Amino acid sequence: MSEIPLSTLITATAPIEAANHGGRAKCLQRLVRLDLPVPRTVALSFAAVQQVAAGELPDIRAILAEFSEDALLCVRPSSEVPDWGGPSAILNIGMNDARYLSLSEVLGQAAAASLYLRFVQSYAVHVARLDPDVFDDVEDGGPDALREILQAYEAETDEVFPQDPGEQLAAVLRSMARAWEGTSARLLRQAKGAPADAGLGLVVQEMIPGLGQGECGSGVLQLVDSDSGLPQLTGRYLSQSQGREALGAGTEALFLEKDARGPSLEELAPEAFARIKADAALMRVRLREEMQVEFVIQNGALHILDGVRVLRSSRAAVRIAVALAQDGIIPPHEAVMRVDAHVLSELLHRQVAPSAARDVIGAGIAASPGAATGQLVFTAADAQSSAARGEPCVLVRRETSPDDVRGMHAAVAVLTGRGGMTSHAAVIGRGLGLPSIVGASNMTFDSRKKRLISASGQVFHAGDIVTIDGSRGEVLAGEPEMLEAAEDDAFQALLAWADEARDIDIRANADTPADAQTARNFNAQGIGLCRTEHMFFDPGRLTVMREMIFAETSSGRAAVLARLLPMQREDFLELFRIMEGLPVCIRLFDPPLHEFLPTSKTGQRELSEALDIPVSDVTRRVEEMAEYNPMLGLRGVRLGVTVPEIYDMQARAIFEATLLASKDGAPVVPEVMIPLVSAKREVELVKARIDAVAAAVAAEQGESFDYRLGVMVETPRAALRADEIAPHTSFLSFGTNDLTQMTYGLSRDDAGRFMSNYVQQGVFPEDPFHVLDVDGVGELLKLGVQRGRSTNPEVTLSICGEHGGNPESIAFCREAGFDYVSCSPFRVPVVRLAAAQLAIGEKTGAVSPTYT
Ligand code: PEP
Ligand code: MG
Repeated sequence: MSEIPLSTLITATAPIEAANHGGRAKCLQRLVRLDLPVPRTVALSFAAVQQVAAGELPDIRAILAEFSEDALLCVRPSSEVPDWGGPSAILNIGMNDARYLSLSEVLGQAAAASLYLRFVQSYAVHVARLDPDVFDDVEDGGPDALREILQAYEAETDEVFPQDPGEQLAAVLRSMARAWEGTSARLLRQAKGAPADAGLGLVVQEMIPGLGQGECGSGVLQLVDSDSGLPQLTGRYLSQSQGREALGAGTEALFLEKDARGPSLEELAPEAFARIKADAALMRVRLREEMQVEFVIQNGALHILDGVRVLRSSRAAVRIAVALAQDGIIPPHEAVMRVDAHVLSELLHRQVAPSAARDVIGAGIAASPGAATGQLVFTAADAQSSAARGEPCVLVRRETSPDDVRGMHAAVAVLTGRGGMTSHAAVIGRGLGLPSIVGASNMTFDSRKKRLISASGQVFHAGDIVTIDGSRGEVLAGEPEMLEAAEDDAFQALLAWADEARDIDIRANADTPADAQTARNFNAQGIGLCRTEHMFFDPGRLTVMREMIFAETSSGRAAVLARLLPMQREDFLELFRIMEGLPVCIRLFDPPLHEFLPTSKTGQRELSEALDIPVSDVTRRVEEMAEYNPMLGLRGVRLGVTVPEIYDMQARAIFEATLLASKDGAPVVPEVMIPLVSAKREVELVKARIDAVAAAVAAEQGESFDYRLGVMVETPRAALRADEIAPHTSFLSFGTNDLTQMTYGLSRDDAGRFMSNYVQQGVFPEDPFHVLDVDGVGELLKLGVQRGRSTNPEVTLSICGEHGGNPESIAFCREAGFDYVSCSPFRVPVVRLAAAQLAIGEKTGAVSPTYT
């Protein structure tokens, strides 16, 4: 750092680096190298600005000596990454009483007064730190206003306005350097990813006034639309103006291109217009970026003051990167690296328009992205009636249970008061692509009176219209303007390039034909987890399921299950047909059986009627089956071992569907997965029965088929004993939801209540149900991988918990040697991009915004 001069005149060959002088200084040097008409500029290094903040000024005379004696100057910030911001630019440094008089002759009195006035005003506010209100009474423009403002300055500061340009420049540099060190500026830039010690450079540039007697003015121009990213010449020009005034000037400002709505720069100054347009195109090619050009016309001559990266929405970011690659300006892999994978999911869903007013009435965990508007409903039944009437509705529940799944299907969005990232509502919401907010603990859920009360006490009733912004986790009153989803050609092109670079497979968690179709649409390479329990909540099946639970004997259970068999076979057949030979991993029944029993008195009465048994029998059975800790109770493989008829039926349905689907389509090799395993013996027992069912089906149909049996590793013991388990299986799929729950001893359904407090106090860096806990849960995963592979090197390894859809967790999965990750269908594009960026980053050393 010490060899870098504190101040450097920007020339084509000067030693200017973004890491020492900031992005703006570097960009200006590039413009100089392109021979663009850039005014003379001096760059101050980060070290120089640090010294200024500490009270040590650089050689001000030497800086001034770089410019002609009568030049006015401006100072602008130049942080390493332009997005990190910086203090406001100060224009017209050097204006004083004498310059006012001489410029009055050259530019006219009004223009000279205006230049001086603007300088005094911004100096007073940003350097002398006076309250902007002091100048409220000053009339706009003219010599009178100038006199008044100088008097106001003197009255407030007890000093005459500084007249010496050196003194002015020194004060400006000092105030800008100190502003960068201030706490709020530091927090602001850190929120944008800047490190705590990020440096600031400053550029001192000769002013081109933009005011005067010929055609003078300033404007900005860019070649694309910031919202869509599509080619569209955008910007404004304002005669007799400076800086970015043209953008705020309303109807006085000119359009750039000829426009039916009003006069344009193209008509006023055709040559200058053509030149800016050509320069912008040149900048795009040579700076390899879509740039906004800040320009000034002075007596008809064009000057380019600056080029900044065009501000862009998420969808514009994709289109701009893809267009640059398609035009051969950057290679496709660089386009892949330029888009932040986190924002990609925004494009898959409708969004609240960034410009829309937001009346926020509550907030919770942003569990499933996208936004939707509908009327409030408080029960699953009401959601279904609302959907039947064609009225979009938002389903509000304290928390959801499997009984609510049909209501969720009917709703356009879901809001719950409890739960975290892996709660029922969150998992189902993501699977359905339904905007969802869970754990909205600052709202009161009064389901009995069908009311929702905001933190400020506003009461909303059933039928009131609200909007769920699942991307931000905010509940909004009313119906703000929306932006439609944008899975357009640019999006598809970017993901196709990502797939070429990616080195880990990606499947989707899909339970229904709709999920499977979404998975196909997003090019998932198979289904990594089909949770079969949701299939039993269909009203037509629920009663049969309950009947099975009430059966006293094994044969009684088998008889009832035989009625579910054809339905389950149809379920799988449909999935196999949609997936057309891609792998489909079906998880055998997982939840505790009592989740299927009615808890309300009415429900129990209805069941007693349906089964023709006394209500007291129903109530007794429900009570008998209750568990103190159901998530650690009789569920998963424990049911498979103790009530084996359910798995027998499911295995038969899978195998029969396999043969049917393979007859008229691509051959299917189903994957059958056993959940919640903790001991090798569980696998042996279940495997023996499933092998027997497979043999029976093959014998009955006279046709053989292959299948793969695997184990879901979601208890810590299964991870630790993976070496014992792996030889009995073709694959191990790590269920990181339950594994996180059991590793922390933290209920996934209750953690949402205090998670934000825990994260705020730094107990956990992030919600471990959202971002994989690499240190603890990750350690178990690594042990499981290593031990599993040690006894079965061929075993396929994957992750199917919600973490599979999180870009931060993909890095871990690649390094740990997983073959694939499986995530909610709507996360598939995000993960395709994030995984590709890691692979490209490893080869090229580049870092994408996803991981900064
Ligand atoms: C898991 O536990 O990680 C998992 C994928 O299964 P579920 O979320 O259905 O418990
Ligand atoms: Mg699980």
